[in-house]
Amino acid sequence: MDQLKEKNINFKLYLFTILIIVLSLVFKFTKYNNSPNPNLEHKELGQIESIIKYGDNSIIAVHYPILGNEQIDNKIKSIIQGYVDGFIQLTKKISPIDKKYKSELNIDYEIYSHSKDIISIKFTILEDTSHYTYPSIKTHTVIYDLSKEKELYFLPDYLEIPHIKVNYNTIKKFVKSNYINKDFIETFLPINDEHPELKIISNRKIDPNMPMVALTFDDGPYIRATIPILDTLKEHNSVATFFVLGNRVPRHKEIVKRIVHEGNEIGNHSYNHKQLTTLSSKELKEQIDKTQETIIEVVGSAPKIMGPTYGSYNNRLKSQVKMPMILWSIDTEDWKYRDAEKISKHILENVKDGDIILMHDMYISTAEAVEIIVPALINRGFQLVTVSELYEIKGEALEVGNIYNRVKSR
Ligand code: ZN
Repeated sequence: MDQLKEKNINFKLYLFTILIIVLSLVFKFTKYNNSPNPNLEHKELGQIESIIKYGDNSIIAVHYPILGNEQIDNKIKSIIQGYVDGFIQLTKKISPIDKKYKSELNIDYEIYSHSKDIISIKFTILEDTSHYTYPSIKTHTVIYDLSKEKELYFLPDYLEIPHIKVNYNTIKKFVKSNYINKDFIETFLPINDEHPELKIISNRKIDPNMPMVALTFDDGPYIRATIPILDTLKEHNSVATFFVLGNRVPRHKEIVKRIVHEGNEIGNHSYNHKQLTTLSSKELKEQIDKTQETIIEVVGSAPKIMGPTYGSYNNRLKSQVKMPMILWSIDTEDWKYRDAEKISKHILENVKDGDIILMHDMYISTAEAVEIIVPALINRGFQLVTVSELYEIKGEALEVGNIYNRVKSR
């Protein structure tokens, strides 16, 4: 009996030893078989929607995805609404003394594909109010199964925890096979996008002695507004300047190419619309450089002008941003009125030679206003040019470190 027991233990030990050997071989194999980490960030999935508000005491720029799946989209909207409502409640509590300080909410996101249907969305939430000594930055991650329209897991409210990249080879043994689709993972490796030099159509003749203005559009591009605006400009052989957000570029490559191809100008309006004056030098550099890089990737050339978010700038911005900074002389407040008649009336009543007119290619009402004002301005003898053209033709240099809002009439 005892002998049998001993034999049994020996056998178990033997099995255990075999198991250890096998495991160490597997470990060794995976260690040497480490292919480079696939970059799973999926910059082109879905549409990107933004809310940008310019209050007297608070500013909000929130970006979130629309995936075309009603249930999940509603869930995402409710998460975002929760943060916006929370922020508004928080700013209501701020005492009048603190109101000189503009509170800021900024939400941006990254989407990662893990298989054909499994995605995770990591929101980064920045709240900067006088309640906090430092801006509060947290992340909120949700994981969805698109095929089942359901949330698999969520990781709310972690302070400053970055996303974790796990090598596919390391985890594949533990993941159900239907959640693994290696072909798909490889499909979404960064694409080496060739950008043949874009041909710039220039069949416009500008008379330097006739009045001219520059229409500018911030915070885009958006399919619903940028495309009809480009259509109107093209129809009237006119151009404008688009101060784009870097985080919108990868999802709107075709629009960005079209902007340049049709002779319009692209300006840098930061990566995700943070208030740049409160950022560290490192973060400011990142906001500018990342935007330049995404634009170069699509059109092969970098913007030469920059539009500071919320129109706010300071000396550090002037010294660190290696581009001339462009403001405006006519503010349509299109984001507030959302009324084509009101926007066009405001422009037509105030416009002068050399003006820079601020609008946002986020709203259908703005696109409708453009349909009215472009022919109306041309009828009045104005030529519509880009910001750089305006300064070049008027003979005023745009210099790095300076702020510009119009060309003064001679
Ligand atoms: Zn803006």
